[in-house]
Amino acid sequence: MKSILITGGSRGIGREAAILCGERGWSVGINYVGNRAAAEETAEHVRKAGGKAVLAQGDVAAEKDVVAMFAATEHAFGRLTGVVINAGIVAPASPLADMSVERMQRIFGVNVLGAYLCARECARRLPKNRGGEGGSVVLLSSAAARLGSPFEYVDYAGSKGAVDTLTVGLAKELAAEGVRVNAIRPGLIETDIHASGGEPGRAHRLGVTTPMGRPGTAREVAEAIVWLLSDAASYTTGAILDVSGGR
Ligand code: NAP
Repeated sequence: MKSILITGGSRGIGREAAILCGERGWSVGINYVGNRAAAEETAEHVRKAGGKAVLAQGDVAAEKDVVAMFAATEHAFGRLTGVVINAGIVAPASPLADMSVERMQRIFGVNVLGAYLCARECARRLPKNRGGEGGSVVLLSSAAARLGSPFEYVDYAGSKGAVDTLTVGLAKELAAEGVRVNAIRPGLIETDIHASGGEPGRAHRLGVTTPMGRPGTAREVAEAIVWLLSDAASYTTGAILDVSGGR
């Protein structure tokens, strides 16, 4: 029985990961920032699947919100044994020359500062020398970290490069204290994130050009997340796993 917090657990990849945790009978803290109805729907799916769920509203870019979402999940289910640092955003496709500083600050605020704040909270709570039971941290990077996303999202791509580096460093910091830290780099996955980037059909348009000839589903990424959370991945740490259909 594991106790898991998923940031951005209300929709997309985070929702599917929450449901798979529920199928294993695990307890899940579902963080969301604004879409409470979606978070409630996810919680209902988790309970129907056989798990427990609690909602934890908060912006991962705000330190006090991050502390509160970890505390709320631990209050409901006891010490965390797994965290999925999944919340992430894009902005409408644009060359770098046309990006405003406000846009870049928000992308780096959510995707980098948010990931670091959540990772720091993991480092304070999960390690055995800090009173934790050990556990598993899974970060959501992106294939963009190695492709660069020219003319679309070089800001987003760079933010995911930072997530890769955080994964490698934190894995080494926490390995001796029973905490594994890994990342997943999804490719083109059919979720709402592409609509927020201005092109709802982007995953399909580009997915057909990948080696596997199709976009991926949120469920296919969630399967990898739950494997990394599980004890079956007991010797895997510091790994960055591409789930991108060969892209
Ligand atoms: P999505 O469908 O757009 O869902 C985003 C989730 O993050 C929602 O639950 C949203 O909450 C939450 N969120 C957004 N901003 C937040 C904030 N500031 N604080 C807390 N929660 C916040 O995204 P997705 O496609 O599932 O992506 C999940 C992760 O995978 C992201 O890190 C993304 O960069 C990465 N990824 C996705 C793809 C892809 O093709 N889909 C590819 C590579 C990497 P609300 O419901 O409240 O808005």
